Order: sequence, then structure tokens, then C-alpha cells
Amino acid sequence: MAKGRPEISVEKCKGCGLCITACPKKILEMSKETNTQGVHYPVCSNEDQCIACTFCATICPDMVIDIIKED
Ligand code: SF4
Ligand code: SF4
Repeated sequence: MAKGRPEISVEKCKGCGLCITACPKKILEMSKETNTQGVHYPVCSNEDQCIACTFCATICPDMVIDIIKED
């Protein structure tokens, strides 16, 4: 199965949470910290589980997430 990891540009995030609901592996969760805008952003709790499906990146309205594919 493909593997990858999400690269999240936290300063561009508006905290809508769509990426978290879109992840089939349920490995994205809201940060406890905020970015400089005072917004909570997604963090990946278990990169080993990422299947590089790109659902999180695709659903994000602000193109905050890039998926780095790994072998
Ligand atoms: S690429 Fe898929 S599995 Fe990986 S964090 Fe995004 S939605 Fe979850
Ligand atoms: S979908 Fe995009 S803007 Fe919304 S919480 Fe996720 S990364 Fe942030």
C-alpha cells in the first residue's frame, strides 16, 4: 500500500476541520497550539498510517496540505 505524510502549512490554515473528517485513517487531529492567527490547525498523530490517499489535501479549501509520497 502507498505511504506518505501530510505536510501542513499551518499559517495558511483557517481551522475548518474538513481535512480531519476526510481522512479515512483518522490520523489527523486539531492542534492544541494555535498559529499566529489564533487558529488551531491539523496535526498528524501517526504518519506511519498515512496511505497517501490525498483526501485531506483535496478537500482543503485553502490548499494548506501537500502529501509527500514515500516508497
Ligand atoms: S493522505 Fe489520506 S491517509 Fe494521509 S493524512 Fe491525508 S487523508 Fe489521511
Ligand atoms: S481543511 Fe485546510 S483550512 Fe481546513 S482545517 Fe484542514 S488544513 Fe486547515
